[in-house]
Amino acid sequence: MTNFFKRLLFLIILSPVLSGSTPVLIEDPYVDVRLRGGEIEKLGSWKFPPDIQICEGSPAARAEVAAAVEWWKTRGYTFGNIVEAGHGNGCIVGSAYGSIVISLISQENFNPSNHATTFIRFDRETGEIVRVRIELKENLRERILEHEIGHALGWLHINRRGHLMHPILENGGWNDEGLVQNL
Ligand SMILES: [Zn+2]
Repeated sequence: MTNFFKRLLFLIILSPVLSGSTPVLIEDPYVDVRLRGGEIEKLGSWKFPPDIQICEGSPAARAEVAAAVEWWKTRGYTFGNIVEAGHGNGCIVGSAYGSIVISLISQENFNPSNHATTFIRFDRETGEIVRVRIELKENLRERILEHEIGHALGWLHINRRGHLMHPILENGGWNDEGLVQNL
């Protein structure tokens, strides 16, 4: 195992939830991430603009994904291509370095209180995000995709009512304070 791959073994899982549970950072063993007020914090960043891969069966259709990506683009973020990946490139097997993969939530990760779960692989030393998987429940609700793409871009939760990155969907909103990058 090279040093490079050892450094990639950090995985973070974040979900917006229906009723207030704490988001969990998973580092094997589990580490709690306390909800914070104050400034929103960023876990890391992509080195190159990530492609978006939509898997077969994804609750989010291409147009919905494109709209959510556009929401972030107008706030200064860049992306590669949006690809309908079918069963390939990390949808079922394999990996998708450099990509954000969007799929239906898998049985082993299914938690009925969560609308979605986002898995982020990143280099803990450099803060470089290398791949992300967003798993969505059926009946995708408003703001979930934008929220999860926010995680995919490195943003953590913030305990501010009406903010996009609030962990509880019902307490969140479209407030983008702290998320806008210089264009
Ligand atoms: Zn979240």
